[in-house]
Amino acid sequence: MAKEGHKYIFVLGGVMSGVGKGVVASSLGLLLQQKGYPVNLVKIDPYLNVDAGTMNPTEHGEVFVLRSGLETDQDMGNYERFLGRDLTNEDYMTSGMVYQSVIERERALGYGGKCVEAVPHVRDEILARIEAASSYNGSRISVIEIGGTIGDFQNALFIEAARVLKMQHPEDVLFVMVSYLPTPGTLGEMKTKPTQMAVRDLNSYGVQPDFIVARSKEPVDEKRKEKLAIWCNVRKDRIIAAPDITSIYEAPLNFEKDKLGDAVLDALRLPEKKRASLAAWKKFALAAMNAKAPEVSIAIVGKYFDTGSFVLSDAYLSVIEAIKFSAAKLGRRAKITWVNSKDLEKAKTSRSDVRPTGRSGRSRGESVDMLAKYDGIIVPGGFGESGIEGKIKAIRFAREKKIPYFGLCYGMQLMVIEYARHVLGLAGANTTEIKKAAEHPVVDVMLEQKKHLSDNKYGGTMRLGVYPAYLKKGTLARAAYKKELVEERHRHRYEINSKYVKQLEDGGLVFSGTSPDGVLMEIAELPRERHPFMLGTQFHPEFNARPLSPHPLFTEFLRAALSRKRRK
Ligand code: GLN
Repeated sequence: MAKEGHKYIFVLGGVMSGVGKGVVASSLGLLLQQKGYPVNLVKIDPYLNVDAGTMNPTEHGEVFVLRSGLETDQDMGNYERFLGRDLTNEDYMTSGMVYQSVIERERALGYGGKCVEAVPHVRDEILARIEAASSYNGSRISVIEIGGTIGDFQNALFIEAARVLKMQHPEDVLFVMVSYLPTPGTLGEMKTKPTQMAVRDLNSYGVQPDFIVARSKEPVDEKRKEKLAIWCNVRKDRIIAAPDITSIYEAPLNFEKDKLGDAVLDALRLPEKKRASLAAWKKFALAAMNAKAPEVSIAIVGKYFDTGSFVLSDAYLSVIEAIKFSAAKLGRRAKITWVNSKDLEKAKTSRSDVRPTGRSGRSRGESVDMLAKYDGIIVPGGFGESGIEGKIKAIRFAREKKIPYFGLCYGMQLMVIEYARHVLGLAGANTTEIKKAAEHPVVDVMLEQKKHLSDNKYGGTMRLGVYPAYLKKGTLARAAYKKELVEERHRHRYEINSKYVKQLEDGGLVFSGTSPDGVLMEIAELPRERHPFMLGTQFHPEFNARPLSPHPLFTEFLRAALSRKRRK
């Protein structure tokens, strides 16, 4: 049963998806936390995947890995970045997870011979999970985002669970509906009707919103607030304007200006403990939005961009944010360009080969030489064969032309393969992920992974979550972190093959970070005398980068990029 006096705020989407429910939930979390209330943020994903790990990033965006190793939705990354702390398994739930528990319990005769049904059994499993999350970390308020839009089949049971919680604890549960008010070009007038209909839809579940966050191009005006108040049965002062913004980090500042935090505390009958202290956040947000800050240009060479004619950067969301945080810290603005590694494969290495840029702003069949115009190059995480040779071309170019390079996971493995091929002369160097019988399997599948793969056990079986690494004295990595022992989040099945470590080191590559037993290579780099910044990590530092504590490796990479820019 619900924790005595605990408060629950459900954030639901009306009208359409993609209007920023996650940003509203995160901003609310930050505001309430800054007012002195411990908050936990929960994401509910209605899909049947047990976690986000088996989904293709072009389908669903980035897979965000929690400290524990749970593979989750990218919204969880935003939650961590806004709250400035790690979240736990309890803070994430999918329909798949809920059904899996219910079915496992049924198979174990856990329901005492009853007929197991969506209501009450699945609903109660959802409630039990909400409770588990609220009991964690001494939280006082849970902000729970229900994925999808009101009216979807998939999320109905979650809304039903929320209704029951409200019925049992009428004083302790609030509903915030994030809606969208379109302004059709032909009319030039903002329309409230879709929001009215969404509220009616929600009413048919037995749920009444307490707040409406009105997303729109321009701020919703008084006249329309009045209309919404009457038709939707929501107090006018609880209809909150949320016009388009340039950066999501601006949202909590705007909401605080509109006193959203106070209004929510008032509705929950909680005393305002203190004014939200957003000074540090504001300083960061202003730096991140400063369009006049000098630019540092970074190319991200990846492959998860293709969806029709759009460039999909969601697949690398945490990488983009990590760059932004470090750039803001250095008083710079990062200009990120997406370079499709498959395009680099097609072209020869001569300038005359450069073809016009595609409709989506992506390069098509471009020469690797064009990378010279960037201040730094990143190859992020990835899987499988496609685009690999293009990435290796880019890495070779970065090494030979001394362009700062930062490789993340696959980007580190490929950096080592490139080094083996072109510096050690092992032409057949490869990863067994793409060539099982590679002549030089410089990157090989981890022993315990072999069985998972042969059993087709893909879900949740990679090397996941936080592992410690020791950093070698006198290296770039050690200088950046300024400490000997670090903990970073992982998500991979392959690793640097220990049989090649000595040969690589003798050939000049430095493994500056290793697992405590010295077996796993966690960071590879080139000595400063040979390259200004050529470093790759087997882990994903981007998952630990936060607005108010940017990641030291991203900051050092950008510093190197800036000195290249000055030299140019
Ligand atoms: N495909 C590589 C592996 O499984 C790298 C994974 C990644 O970049 N996250 O080891």
